[in-house]
Amino acid sequence: MQSLEPGETGPMDRIPLLIAGKAVETREWIDLVEPATGQLYGQVADATSEEVDQAVSAAKNAFVGWSSMPVDERSGLLMRLADLIDRDTERLAQAESKDTGKPLEVARTVDVPRVALNFRFFAGAVQHAEGAFHDMGGEAINYTLRRPRGVAGLISPWNLPLYLLTWKIAPAIATGNTCVCKPSEVSPLSAHLLMGLIEEAGIPAGVVNMVHGRGDRAGAAIIEHPDVPAISFTGSTRAGSWIAQHAGAMLKRYSLELGGKNPNLVFADADLDEAITTSVRAAYSNQGQICLCGSRILVERSVYHEFVERFVERARALQIGDPLDGGTQIGSLIGLDHLEKVDGLVQLARDSGGTIQCGGRRAEAPNDRCAGGAFYEPTVITGLDWGCETEQEEIFGPVVTITPFDDEDQAVQLANCTRYGLASMVWTRDLARAHRVAERVDAGIVWVNCWMLRDLRTPFGGTKQSGVGREGGLEAVRFFTEPKNVCIRKN
Ligand code: NAD
Repeated sequence: MQSLEPGETGPMDRIPLLIAGKAVETREWIDLVEPATGQLYGQVADATSEEVDQAVSAAKNAFVGWSSMPVDERSGLLMRLADLIDRDTERLAQAESKDTGKPLEVARTVDVPRVALNFRFFAGAVQHAEGAFHDMGGEAINYTLRRPRGVAGLISPWNLPLYLLTWKIAPAIATGNTCVCKPSEVSPLSAHLLMGLIEEAGIPAGVVNMVHGRGDRAGAAIIEHPDVPAISFTGSTRAGSWIAQHAGAMLKRYSLELGGKNPNLVFADADLDEAITTSVRAAYSNQGQICLCGSRILVERSVYHEFVERFVERARALQIGDPLDGGTQIGSLIGLDHLEKVDGLVQLARDSGGTIQCGGRRAEAPNDRCAGGAFYEPTVITGLDWGCETEQEEIFGPVVTITPFDDEDQAVQLANCTRYGLASMVWTRDLARAHRVAERVDAGIVWVNCWMLRDLRTPFGGTKQSGVGREGGLEAVRFFTEPKNVCIRKN
């Protein structure tokens, strides 16, 4: 196999590290398998700690020039990058779909437009950010400088590969940091393409360095590197906990966006048509592999049976298909190992007395091309005890449980009964109830009568074991900058 230049793809891709704008050959490689077909399509570099060290040095070297560039110039380069992403939407969407098994149409209309928006948004945010000033009367004045922290370590998962990685790169570099990125080793292709566009936009070499490889080696080397003072991580709670221990021990700044088991509360007074339509979308978008998916549906008892019946009918009607086909609503899971994990938790639900209302098994391949793909039927489980593992653990697949509740107190109690606290939904026409429940649910995000309506200015992140810190808007700008107060005596 031949190594690719930045931004290049080929029939059998070999994705190298890109450090200071140059491809770096490694000795070790990880096979890349297309989830929808089960076919090997290339390899990605598996960086060693020495190679991570090279990337950190490149980022340190680039920091001096990048952090001192006037903000409007830096902002202009990010805007240019956003335009190039728009221009290359199709190529990026194809890479994203090939790497993850998600429907191409979703990558084209949701993932890639958001990638461009991430850069536009933070290019604008830093232009409009205001500083703080505190006057001590006749005595002194204070003003607060916010300086970039230096080299940021940015680590992201496979489910929304470029969308989530650029949600970190954009604020990090807009505020003047340089970075070492490590996308997931199972979905590195779109990040590799992005590097070509970063170069074309005129962002200097070394500002963004892409290392690939396994989390417990390349990822851990970033976390433990003494010259990486800020870590922004999105991924599992298990890895997040390891990172908190190690980065915390080195007194680094870290932001962790972790797992979820998000409750979706449906009250009897809700617009049921709307609640069912959106709950199906919230359950199965991206094959249920979004941290924000509403996987625990709680329904007031008086409408429970109607809700289950109509929800199951809609879940059964979803079109499982080849990600390349226009009508496909459910593509492939990320791989067969993950499918086994999802199926194992469904089996556990069966063993715990749950009823599988629909799905609960691997789906037939939609065509010959996809014969080795990881397709799973949209699944609904009822009749589970709230304490069982299927109700408590993140499944991260097209699986929901539906449970009845009797009153508002019980709804909130059930909503809060897991170790997670990322997102939640509340369906009701009673405005006072919406306010009450929104306040009582343990979650970083509460959507009332909607799901996934995102304003990039709002804080994004979770409570409890769903994360530490927040991304989005000024929260991200603050995370990537260090405040310094300057006090000047007036006389
Ligand atoms: P993962 O934790 O296995 O891996 C995420 C990234 O971390 C990968 O790049 C991986 O290589 C790296 N990594 C793993 N161990 C590491 C370590 N010890 N040190 C440094 N890096 C390490 O997660 P995944 O399976 O890729 O993604 C799925 C998980 O991500 C789910 O739990 C999901 O809820 C979560 N997620 C959360 C959000 C959010 O915003 N809260 C968004 C998307 C996904």
